[in-house]
Amino acid sequence: MTPQAAGLSLADVLAARQAISGIAARTPLVPSPYLAAKLGADFLLKLEIAQPTGAFKLRGAANAVASVPEGAAGVVCCSTGNHGRSVAYAAARRGLRAVVCLSSLVPEAKVAGILGLGGEARITGHSQDDAQVEATRLVAEEGLIEIPPFDDPRVIAGQGTIALEMLEARPDIATLLVPLSGGGLAAGVALAAKAIKPAIRVIGISMDRGAAMAASISAGHPVEVREVASLADSLGGGIGLENRLSFSLCRDLLDAVVLVTEEEIYRALQAVFYQDRLVAEGASVVGIAALLAGKLDAAAPGPMATILTGRNLDMGLFARIVAGADVDLDGKTVKGASWRMK
Ligand SMILES: *Cc1c(COP(=O)(O)O)cnc(C)c1O
Repeated sequence: MTPQAAGLSLADVLAARQAISGIAARTPLVPSPYLAAKLGADFLLKLEIAQPTGAFKLRGAANAVASVPEGAAGVVCCSTGNHGRSVAYAAARRGLRAVVCLSSLVPEAKVAGILGLGGEARITGHSQDDAQVEATRLVAEEGLIEIPPFDDPRVIAGQGTIALEMLEARPDIATLLVPLSGGGLAAGVALAAKAIKPAIRVIGISMDRGAAMAASISAGHPVEVREVASLADSLGGGIGLENRLSFSLCRDLLDAVVLVTEEEIYRALQAVFYQDRLVAEGASVVGIAALLAGKLDAAAPGPMATILTGRNLDMGLFARIVAGADVDLDGKTVKGASWRMK
């Protein structure tokens, strides 16, 4: 399998780096002594939590927004989370109108976040499907250009720029742990990393409940899974039954997909807070959860790295985890445990 899958290649990632420079930050790659001691080799954290929107999704969004022709009416998307924030921010930087379609169930804080970044919030209906209907209407009737969250060549190439920066800073990285949802991040990172260093292992990590990409790779085609509440809420959602790119890239380029439990994510959030002194959302720490749980049989010997993908989390929930309290996730209780410094 050559890393030119689906017509995308390293050249697209290098072009994306040019297109997003000045909008997305070149983020630090820092060592974690605690995780290095657990692994027995260097362990590095790529701090995408330091992006101006608080998440890596700015890279893909900025690359897609950069390709919108001059004079276009604007862009539209219907993500309630990090993608919506990033599209709003990248469009505002280009002076373009950005409409984020949301359902009325979305919390007020998320709407305020999008407005604060310069986007417009369009609230319609009671589900994500209703929001998508409105986005499709805006494309047809007002000529807005839709920016998809993961299944798009420009988005995938933008996310791949993370791997360029990581391997430039540390060419000796042997294994990359990549949080996995729709697979735009894992596809871009694996494509770029393997083009630069074919021997590198790239392992996708998801939560063990509602992991659509993992289920789809096992089935051999995109499948739907039931969405359930998770501490890694940014990893929820499907991959699309009509998936064009991210599914085949993840299937072909990932060396393994590992699933972690809510309890393992809880412990990893504590570890990153108490040991590395960092605040990151649940989706960010699934790779660390897999390491601490001893689930990384597919890793290569040598330095390992993961991407702290975002920091947009519910701070009330986070405070409970830091305190070691039980956490309720839509009826499922994640049993608390206090962190002891070792
Ligand atoms: C979107 C997201 C991911 C997963 O990215 P995909 O491209 O959908 O696989 C991981 N972490 C955070 C914080 C995200 O917002």
